Amino acid sequence: MGQESKIKVAVVGAGASGCICAYHLLKARINVTLFDKNLPLRTLLPTGGGRCNLAHAEYDFKELAKNYPRGEKFLYSVFSQFSTSDTIELFNEMGIKTYTQDDGRIFPKSNSSKDVQKVILQELRTKNVKFIQKEIKDINELFEKYSAVVVATGGHSGYELLKQFNIKIIEPRPSLVGLNTKEDFMALSGIVIKSAMIDGIQEDILFTHFGVSGPLIYKISSLNAFNEIPYIVTVDLCPNLLNLQEILNSNPHKELKNILADFLPNKIAKFILKDIDETLKGYQVNGTTRDLILQRIHEFKITVNGTNKGEETVTAGGVDLDEINPKSMELKKVPNMYCIGEILNIDGFCGGFNLQNAWSTAYVCAKSIIAQAK
Ligand SMILES: Cc1cc2nc3c(=O)[nH]c(=O)nc-3n(C[C@H](O)[C@H](O)[C@H](O)COP(=O)(O)OP(=O)(O)OC[C@H]3O[C@@H](n4cnc5c(N)ncnc54)[C@H](O)[C@@H]3O)c2cc1C
Repeated sequence: MGQESKIKVAVVGAGASGCICAYHLLKARINVTLFDKNLPLRTLLPTGGGRCNLAHAEYDFKELAKNYPRGEKFLYSVFSQFSTSDTIELFNEMGIKTYTQDDGRIFPKSNSSKDVQKVILQELRTKNVKFIQKEIKDINELFEKYSAVVVATGGHSGYELLKQFNIKIIEPRPSLVGLNTKEDFMALSGIVIKSAMIDGIQEDILFTHFGVSGPLIYKISSLNAFNEIPYIVTVDLCPNLLNLQEILNSNPHKELKNILADFLPNKIAKFILKDIDETLKGYQVNGTTRDLILQRIHEFKITVNGTNKGEETVTAGGVDLDEINPKSMELKKVPNMYCIGEILNIDGFCGGFNLQNAWSTAYVCAKSIIAQAK
């Protein structure tokens, strides 16, 4: 076993990125103190609905980077050093076997975030991490004792710590979140439309008491995170519906509400028909009414006037990537100070991409500190 390095590193934030950065440093026999205002890895517990979707099965790092509305180019350098297969290997090394779901999401075989938390913390303890439960308020105080400081405080806090260093922060906005709408969808609350489409993206949409949510909306909230509110999105509720006239012709004696209910949920069909006589028979529907119905289905307008508070999975925004060296995660203006994980202006879609960012930036940072320690 080699000698312990004289370098002492403070890692602020014992979340996903902070703990894994500490893991790599400890493995290289570097002295690490982890600070967190809460219990370590508490933030991992709700991930993947308690199952911890820890990566995504995209093994080409440039393709992987396309899943990040903010950070794509910056991540080329990061992912070229540590990407999906490295994540699987890292967890394997800790004794956490993984599997890939049909949709590409990678989970631990135990399907338990709690298990992953337990194993990582056990690894850190075995490697003699120092953990101090404390909220850090001033980084300069840490520099009095430590030769390097890693800021890994996540997407919701820590920005105030960087103010004194004159670091540019892009104001954080909620992402991967349900959207509040001007339209009242209370009557549709709980209804899911399978494979609806917005801007060419096709996934499920869920109507709620506050507006809309579900996988399609999470993606749209991410892509539009910096849009001025209010903004309008146009949903195609039934992209597969190509020829309504043919369907009307084939069902001349069926009521309109029942015809629509063949390809849309009942309540949605009623909502679409609102001021149109729903008892009209197929043969009674004239061209104007048919086109109005088609327009309402294919160009369903939603006015977004906010995000559903507290539901956000990640934040868009954070430390401006121009402030960071992507080869080391070091702040260009502050030598020996590093930022990793969600505090950066990097965020991905749902599917394991945000944890991948945490693991990858943690590795790049640790590797750079280890190189300096030699
Ligand atoms: C409900 C939910 C489900 C999610 N599911 C997934 C998923 O399945 N897959 C995926 O890829 N991503 C998922 N994410 C996103 C993912 O959890 C985050 O992107 C990831 O945890 C970010 O890691 P981090 O280390 O940057 O920050 P965090 O994990 O948030 O850790 C930051 C830590 O810093 C501490 N801290 C903050 N400020 C201070 C301070 N001043 N002093 C001391 N400590 C401080 C906090 O207490 C916290 O422990 C999910 C997020 C949520 C909310």
